[in-house]
Amino acid sequence: MNYQPTIGLEVHAQLLSQSKLFCGASTRFGAEPNANVHPLCMAIPGTLPKLNAAVVDMAIRTGLALNCTINLESHWDRKHYFYPDLPSGFQVTQSELPICEYGTLSIPTPEGSERHIRIRRIHMEEDAGKLMHDSQSGESLVDLNRAGIPLLEIVSYPDLKTAEEATTYLRTLRDILVYIGVNDGNLEEGSFRCDANVSIAPKGSTTLGTRVEIKNINSFRYVQKAIEYEIARQVSVLENGGKLVQETRLWDAEKNETRSMRSKENAQDYRYFPEPNLPPLFVPASQVEALKKTLPELPKAKCRRYVESLGLPPYDASVLTSERELAEYFEACLVHYADAKKLSNWVMGELLRMMKEEVLGFSALRFSPEQFARLLKAVDEGKVSLNAAKEVFAEMFRTGKEPEQIVEAKGLAQVSDTGAIEAAIATVLATQASEVEKYRSGKKQVFGFLVGQVMKAMQGKANPAVINNLLRNRLDS
Ligand code: ADP
Ligand code: MG
Repeated sequence: MNYQPTIGLEVHAQLLSQSKLFCGASTRFGAEPNANVHPLCMAIPGTLPKLNAAVVDMAIRTGLALNCTINLESHWDRKHYFYPDLPSGFQVTQSELPICEYGTLSIPTPEGSERHIRIRRIHMEEDAGKLMHDSQSGESLVDLNRAGIPLLEIVSYPDLKTAEEATTYLRTLRDILVYIGVNDGNLEEGSFRCDANVSIAPKGSTTLGTRVEIKNINSFRYVQKAIEYEIARQVSVLENGGKLVQETRLWDAEKNETRSMRSKENAQDYRYFPEPNLPPLFVPASQVEALKKTLPELPKAKCRRYVESLGLPPYDASVLTSERELAEYFEACLVHYADAKKLSNWVMGELLRMMKEEVLGFSALRFSPEQFARLLKAVDEGKVSLNAAKEVFAEMFRTGKEPEQIVEAKGLAQVSDTGAIEAAIATVLATQASEVEKYRSGKKQVFGFLVGQVMKAMQGKANPAVINNLLRNRLDS
């Protein structure tokens, strides 16, 4: 390809506050239509906005997590447009002077290094309501539950170069927002939404091409597909001697294509002006300092620590730190069981597999990290074999019973008692005289067969390491 694609992303993330941005109405998802509506978010004349302080804290924490400058003074503006889901006729947002600017988000590259994607700005704004169209009656109804719900808009610079990088950026961003507890990361319910701006320019060009904005993408997979489609479409327009126009296109997930929605010429003029009912927002520097202390260790730092001080492979570290609850669970187990790699194998293997099968979250687990650790120790101490331990784990997962109790009830204890194993060895050696002869005359592969015979005599319950040792001693003496 002779073209270099460029992508810039605008993310709308719904903040996890209990009440709306400028009034006390609830933000609860899934309520009856128009149940979460107060006079202000319904735009009853004469109502006045009152800023939700919790939202400001969340915006600042996000800015800090994304290495932004926090503006100690920021402003509120009205963005005007007419639509039935916006009774006031304007959205309150931060246009000229947003609360956070000039950050960075580091994303991993497939080669194992990282790229720093610059963030232009983060601002707070209110969401609009939702129209519901009834195709049978032909009526449209408005639900204002979402009107006034606080959003953060996070705008990147056009620093991304491929569709894959764009999705990595979004996943990394989503993980951070969920980690710091400001967003639930739920794309399907629309609490994390993305518009992608895409352009192409001839390779080596120092200026960017004409940009197209794609709206309406509600999954990571669709973001990737929509951007890939749009790059290919733009290349084909230019290759065929056409010209690209600045426009907004919609992603159609069913047809796998983007479609023109409106061009620059008929783009709306929002007539931004300062919101007269809200004073400039002043944040004391001490508040920013205090909020800095509330930030948890972020996924990237955690991942690095898992590699550098726990000695985990980078792959394990990135899986374990991908979700905060998972990392916290892993660390809770680590308190009781120090072998990080063995623990990681169990957590990434048995635990995550069963949690996925049963669709169970960490808070619903029926056993404690301490019980889990006890099972792993029993394996190390040879009290139960690895395979038997997996069976014990499955039972523990289902019932929350103590591992020792399950081992006992299911007769899964492993015999490491040398007396019993030596007796079994003696019997096997006596009955397998010809095999023993073969071994002693140099056919060492017979050893495995003999181990198998001893294990069989022990009904599969002997510790294989102990059998190996004792048997080798007997044969080689
Ligand atoms: P607007 O206010 O009209 O949305 P912005 O300049 O704020 O325009 O840009 C919006 C988004 O578009 C940003 O994420 C930015 O990175 C991205 N963008 C700007 N120019 C380009 C371009 N030529 N190609 C791709 N993305 C771009
Ligand atoms: Mg825009």
